[in-house]
Amino acid sequence: MSFASQGFSPEIVRAVAECGYDKMTPVQRRAIPAARKGRDILANAQTGTGKTAAFTLPILQQLIDNPQPVKNFNVRALVLAPTRELAAQIGANAEAYAKYLDLSIVTIFGGVKMAGQVKQLQPGVDLLIATPGRLLEHIAEGNIALGAIEHVVLDEADRMLDMGFAGELKRLFSLVPAKRQTMLFSATYPAAMKQLARQSLTSPVEVAVDAINATAETVSHVVYPVDAGRKMELLSELIGRKNWRQVMVFCNYKETADNVVKELNLNGLPTVVCHGDKGQGARRRALAEFKEGKARILVATDVAARGLDIKGLPYVINFDVPFLAEDYVHRIGRTGRAGQRGHAVSLVGRDEELSIAQIEQLIGQHIHRITQTGYEVPDRTALLHDVRNKKRYTDKRRRTNNPSADRGQAQAAAERNLRKRR
Ligand code: AMP
Repeated sequence: MSFASQGFSPEIVRAVAECGYDKMTPVQRRAIPAARKGRDILANAQTGTGKTAAFTLPILQQLIDNPQPVKNFNVRALVLAPTRELAAQIGANAEAYAKYLDLSIVTIFGGVKMAGQVKQLQPGVDLLIATPGRLLEHIAEGNIALGAIEHVVLDEADRMLDMGFAGELKRLFSLVPAKRQTMLFSATYPAAMKQLARQSLTSPVEVAVDAINATAETVSHVVYPVDAGRKMELLSELIGRKNWRQVMVFCNYKETADNVVKELNLNGLPTVVCHGDKGQGARRRALAEFKEGKARILVATDVAARGLDIKGLPYVINFDVPFLAEDYVHRIGRTGRAGQRGHAVSLVGRDEELSIAQIEQLIGQHIHRITQTGYEVPDRTALLHDVRNKKRYTDKRRRTNNPSADRGQAQAAAERNLRKRR
């Protein structure tokens, strides 16, 4: 199905063609016809599926179908994204799609000065792409009003919830008109997401394109059991000896990421890093070097990597097994795209076997185990039997590794602390 068949204006069709898009992707085929009619959308789609165009193009078309002058500091359409990188990426895509339209598109996120953004907001904005925190800062300072909003998109809504933005989102929804189009895109559906969907959407059209375990078809998953203290050695050996190129390595903590980068560079493997402590410029440079092939390895934490437009990587390595099984799915979403075979490799310490069991539950398959010669570990058969058979851990909906049924305050605080370090 082509974009022209969807009744898009010639200007949009031309711009999309210039982006090199020929046919619509599955999420676009399913979401666009309903979104064009102004329906609310609840879409289950990951990065790399073409979801940005799926929500942006119908909004652009509706904005030009119903031309309205925007008042100063007002906005007609708002896209919220969890991270700066994702917001910047959506902004760049939206500008490309609107290249031949007379619409103002502005992207705002934290980490840059407010003043420049205020100047852009002053004349009013047709399409605003924002991270929730920075948007609320501007609202608090009276730099922006949401009373004229016609369309709202929450992109990677599950990640916004994971990052603790639930309160901010609730606040924002209290400020936008009840009569609006809302589109919610999310890769996963934990309970908090369902609640958010119930609160923010009206009779949504449900679109599911990327089943959570669809990755299994193109990605081979392997686990290397290893002593936690020898992961660094094993990582260097795998990448160096096997001559893997274009490798994305995930760590759970910024500190670990920094150490891994240092070690890999010392071992002569050109490596860059992307995590929450790195400034905007540093992250952009790292990404560019990785994409251009100057760096062979990109080490990242989940939050920093989320939404980065890196496609078709041959290798994704989990230096640490993610705390949340869903993060595993996000991580390996980087590999095996577009019909290419991808490899998802996890280095697993004894303490992480439980997380692997949860991941296996989520993706619906046992992950193949490889013992690297020289890195043999004490037999884990009994442990594996235990973790795989514990009732609590066989519940696919469970999201954390916390074995206690009632999460105490101390545990919740510990988890918050963990999030800060990622
Ligand atoms: P997204 O999931 O929105 O991040 O998109 C992933 C990548 O697919 C981006 O590089 C888009 O430019 C690209 N893309 C989106 N729609 C299409 C399409 N219909 N045909 C080819 N590429 C597309």
